This record gives sequence, C-alpha cells and structure tokens, in this order.
Amino acid sequence: MTIPSLSSPEDYYGTDANMRYMSASQLKSFLGTPGIAACEERAVMEAQGLWQRPSNKALTMGSYVDVMLTGTDTEQDEFRESHPEMYSSRGPTKGQLKVEFKAVNDMVERAHEDAKNGGIFMRSLQGEKQRVVTGIIHGHEFKGRLDVLGDGFITDLKTVESIERRYFNEGWWDFISWWGYDLQGAIYQELVYQTTGNKLPFYIAAISKQTPCDLDLIQVPQDRLDEAMARVTPDALDRIAALKNGELKPERCGHCEWCRMTKVIRKPRILEVV
Ligand SMILES: [Zn+2]
Repeated sequence: MTIPSLSSPEDYYGTDANMRYMSASQLKSFLGTPGIAACEERAVMEAQGLWQRPSNKALTMGSYVDVMLTGTDTEQDEFRESHPEMYSSRGPTKGQLKVEFKAVNDMVERAHEDAKNGGIFMRSLQGEKQRVVTGIIHGHEFKGRLDVLGDGFITDLKTVESIERRYFNEGWWDFISWWGYDLQGAIYQELVYQTTGNKLPFYIAAISKQTPCDLDLIQVPQDRLDEAMARVTPDALDRIAALKNGELKPERCGHCEWCRMTKVIRKPRILEVV
C-alpha cells in the first residue's frame, strides 16, 4: 500500500488516508456519541469514500467561520470562490452575501472585539494552523488535523447553535459531550504527545450562531478527556480495523442519514408504544 502524504487537505481527507489511518471523526462515526448514532455501515462507507455526509448550510457556515478566523487572506478568497451558494443569485440583493453568511461576519467581528477589550479569545487561535499529527494507539495508526497547535495548548474552533444549550439522550449533555468533542480532544492530545513529548491542555474556542452571538473559551478537564479515551479500547480499534478492511460485516444502526437513504421496506411494522 502506498503511504498517503497528509500534507494537503485533499490528501488528508482522501480515501487512501482514511483507509490507512483512524481518526477522531472515524471513531465518532463507528462508536457513536450521545448526539451521533453509532453506525458501522455508514462509517465504513465514509472511510471507503463511497458516501459523504450531505453538505448543508450549517456546515458551510462553520467552515466559513473557521477560515475567517484562522485562514490566510488567500484561503479566505479561495473559500468564497468555491462557495458561490453563500451569495444571493436573484433579486435586489444579487451578488451579496446571504443573511446567514453575513451573520458570520458579525461573529468574526465579535471575536476581534473581544481582543480589543483585552480578551484572550483570539489569542487561543494563535499558533500553527491545520497542523497534521500522526501516532499509534493500541497498535493502530491515527491521524489528526488540529485547528490550532499553540504555544502550550491545543485549540479547536467550534461554531455552535448555543454554548449553554443542553441536549437530551438518556440524560442531559453539554455540546462538548453531545458531539464527541471530548473524544476528539483526547485523540489530539495523545497524538501531539507522541509527536512532541508534550501533554497539552485542550481548549474549545466556541462561537454561537445566536444574535448577538456568544463567545467562550472552554478547557475540557483532563478527567473528561481520560474518560473519553477509555472508550478507545484495543478491542474497539481491532473491530474497526477489521470492519474497514472488509473482514467483518458492518452493523446498520437503522436511524442515521445513510440508513434512511438505503433502507428497504420488506413488511409493515407494528407501531410500538413510546
Ligand atoms: Zn445507520
């Protein structure tokens, strides 16, 4: 097997790299989080490049915030050029940013205002951007792409509905556990440790889509990172590896986007009482 270079985003997110390496997002897809259904079949299809989560406005908004706060001028220009859907194509506003993407400009401005007022939000985004790290966990190769590797910290920038909202799934969760950002932080911390010898704190720089937007810098406590890492067992990783290379048949969750898209109705089901 050729060793995929991970230097460009295309290579990093490409099928060769996804098949060779495990990653935090693969673990989230295979193992699930309170907010993401564990679905082996979807996760295998994603890793093999046979299915992509449908892109939506929320994802594009998040990426636009990322590039506006951590990207170079060239990267920002390239992003705008490759996302014509951000601009109105009709009527008197033709050629202008659509309302929700204008809101991104307000969010970015709000982050800069924090700095003007002596806040540290923007400082948490200073450092090496999109640094790729690799390492080995329980004998399996991993890759990670860090938003920011700062001087003594790791930061991931997250655009969220609300920083304070709690989500319900057999219990209440904050957005960090809900979306598995604790697991992501744990993997990043370990890969950075294996690469540099430093065990660094993991920060989430969160910015909300509310009007006016909310801003926060949250350190995920070490015990939360350790708890998340405890789910990454040798058995779990061996199973994922066997699923990825086709030795095991993946289970379907029956609820995710992939399962909705591909299910076949073979007989009526009896309505269950909830
Ligand atoms: Zn599924």
